[in-house]
Amino acid sequence: MSDNAPTIFSRIIAREIPATIVYEDEQALAFKDIHPAAPFHVLVIPKRPLASIEAMSPEDAALFGHLVWVCKKVANDAGHSAYRVVANAGAEVGQTVFHHHFHVLAGRSFKWPPG
Ligand code: 5GP
Repeated sequence: MSDNAPTIFSRIIAREIPATIVYEDEQALAFKDIHPAAPFHVLVIPKRPLASIEAMSPEDAALFGHLVWVCKKVANDAGHSAYRVVANAGAEVGQTVFHHHFHVLAGRSFKWPPG
């Protein structure tokens, strides 16, 4: 799938707006959510501006596997071995920024199913 138009997350990648970055490599960036929904709330994004999981092609599978590993790493590095990883794909289910991101949440109890 072709890449999406730039969003505010592209500006965070480019360091045009500030964010508290907790991890970075060639493919991925992880930074604290500006409105945390848990004591630990980090967003893990690909540097490529893919809009959402819905924009994935089979060739993107390795990238997404890497992003899941980054989710585990940032949680573990903050001392969390239990965490929730969430991705909203589509406005109807709550996506507001159309650059794919995994939410990594920890530090409190969570209900299931999510609302
Ligand atoms: P979504 O609703 O798309 O799944 O999640 C978007 C997330 O991005 C929200 O949790 C929101 O708080 C976060 N967010 C939106 N704008 C910014 C920003 O400029 N900086 C940071 N760090 N987080 C942002």
